Amino acid sequence: MRVTFLGTSGAVPTTRRNTSALLVNRDGDRLLFDCGEGTQRQMMRFSTGFAVDHVFVTHCHGDHVLGIPGLVQTFDFNDRERPLAIHAPHGTRGGIEDLVHAAGNDPSFPVRINQVGPDEVVLDRDEYEVRAVRTDHRTNAVGYAVVEDDRKGRFDREKAEEELGISPGPKYSKLHRGEPVEHDGRTVEPEEVVGPPRPGRRFVYTGDTRPTDAVAAAAEDADLLVHDATFASDWADRAKETAHSTAREAAAIADRAGAKRLALTHISTRYAGDHSPIEREAREHFDGDAWIPDDGDRFDVPFPDDGTGDESAD
Ligand SMILES: [Zn+2]
Ligand SMILES: [Zn+2]
Repeated sequence: MRVTFLGTSGAVPTTRRNTSALLVNRDGDRLLFDCGEGTQRQMMRFSTGFAVDHVFVTHCHGDHVLGIPGLVQTFDFNDRERPLAIHAPHGTRGGIEDLVHAAGNDPSFPVRINQVGPDEVVLDRDEYEVRAVRTDHRTNAVGYAVVEDDRKGRFDREKAEEELGISPGPKYSKLHRGEPVEHDGRTVEPEEVVGPPRPGRRFVYTGDTRPTDAVAAAAEDADLLVHDATFASDWADRAKETAHSTAREAAAIADRAGAKRLALTHISTRYAGDHSPIEREAREHFDGDAWIPDDGDRFDVPFPDDGTGDESAD
């Protein structure tokens, strides 16, 4: 699961940071979260690939959606035929439709607008799902959690081969799939050589939000939480007025959730010259890794365990 930060600026772009967008590539599935103006060009610059079938919009403020018209029109120029799904909070269908059809555009490929509410499963795949998370902004808004299913337990090849005398072959894959096998005149149960299921990864992207209980719950043990950190505490009042979070508030949520890593984003232009107060504050209040990614930064989200032993038993 690779995350590419495409836009990390709040409200307006700067020369160094574009407005909000983030791309998750999970085994070739490209999931685009928010689509600020110029996102398509960021995708080219940072080589994420263009084969996006799902866009997840957190809310309809311009700095999160104004890239949709350009992206859709480029897909059209490229003779796209595959359908595109745009997931967005309830009450935003009209706004998204206007963006899709901006400047008289009439895409020749199907565009499905799917309105979503908190706790709904937005996308259900074989090995993971994307859920909407309740957030608190000045308009209809949701965050999103990418939650992987548990993985198969670790296969103890040494025990299978040396203690039980089963040679590598089809019996290994059967056992790893959870099926018993006959060997040496007895039944070998999978539990003898396969460990307990291991948790998959959890990634949470809040979009713009005040700190909320729902985000803390969704980000429980998250391997990466990307949280609104528009301001440092010197602008805490402003954060409240505009329904954003300070770095300290984002850090408190990450801490409560037991998240492993916190990426701070949607940085106000007030900190364009020096964003160190935001990073410093988050690190004071959160023990895990906390940082402000730059546009174009990539992060490979590791498994909760070290990820080794993933090779199949075949
Ligand atoms: Zn915003
Ligand atoms: Zn907003």
